[in-house]
Amino acid sequence: MIRRVALIGLGTMGPGIAARLARGGLDVVAFDSAAAAVERAKAMLPVAAGALDRLGITPPEAGEGTIAFAASLAEAVKGCDLVIENVPEDAGIKAEIYRAIDPLIGSQTIVATDTSGIPITGLQENISHPERFVGMHWSNPPHIIPMIEVIGGAKTAPATVAAIRDLIRSLGLLPVVLKKDVPGFVENRVLYALLREAVDLVERGVIEAEDLDTCVSWGIGYKIAVIGPMALLDMAGLDIYRSVSSFLNADLADRKDVSPAVEERFAARKLGIKTGEGMYSYTPERIAALQGERAGKLIAIRRILEAAK
Ligand code: NAD
Repeated sequence: MIRRVALIGLGTMGPGIAARLARGGLDVVAFDSAAAAVERAKAMLPVAAGALDRLGITPPEAGEGTIAFAASLAEAVKGCDLVIENVPEDAGIKAEIYRAIDPLIGSQTIVATDTSGIPITGLQENISHPERFVGMHWSNPPHIIPMIEVIGGAKTAPATVAAIRDLIRSLGLLPVVLKKDVPGFVENRVLYALLREAVDLVERGVIEAEDLDTCVSWGIGYKIAVIGPMALLDMAGLDIYRSVSSFLNADLADRKDVSPAVEERFAARKLGIKTGEGMYSYTPERIAALQGERAGKLIAIRRILEAAK
């Protein structure tokens, strides 16, 4: 029975995850090594709770869980049933955390990582009970997107995968269990295939960035929220797909390195919203409005899709 969760890392993902777990009745003890991240997380929690209210997500009968902030890693993991690691996407930083918590956690504690795609099989070598180590990949914003990938590594026990799958279900969320531990898992493999093609089309001057976004959001994106790719193949007809893919697959972007369009921006510190410029330019006012605007639209879409079931 998972009741107390230690959440390590409170950057982009941590606060939304904490809010969602607490709303599901779990007690969360959160820790981040940066004081500023803890302050930002504290400010973000009521915002995430407000989004959960607007989604109509209510606590279980036993009531909402608590969120506490620990002063150390040891304090955070003490007596917890589950650790969710949310530190930066760097195998070295993650390995350090696993080695540090290894002697501190109980014999039944599950350790889950929110890595976006580092294979679980390698990460689990840093802990003395790899059978209780698992991937639990949330999607951003984690308090709003209901799908969570569950990935077992070579040494993960099936019971560990089942426990995380069942926990996600008990929260009213949608677990997707992978059958193999592949880099990038499934969500990001599909997304990165799309992003490679999108960046290539803009870079080659086929289309303006804004028009590409309109094309994907209102063409494929809007439809794919209702009809997934496998169902879409059946809707279009496999004969049509066979015919088009017989010439188109050979023409699609297939570069193995990072596109120059991205490398050039990276070198110029044009990293997107966080630096004010990336694929687009942003004013500070626009940046302040974007997060709320996007959350509002995602909530509205999810409510309508759920009501239409
Ligand atoms: P982030 O960089 O925004 O936050 C990471 C936090 O970890 C920071 O606040 C940092 O201070 C803290 N941290 C670093 N070292 C620490 C340590 N030793 N102990 C405690 N805290 C420490 O990262 P993020 O975007 O929240 O991503 C976290 C993980 O989730 C990554 O593995 C990432 O790939 C994955 N993820 C991210 C997204 C996304 O859209 N950002 C989506 C899904 C999964």
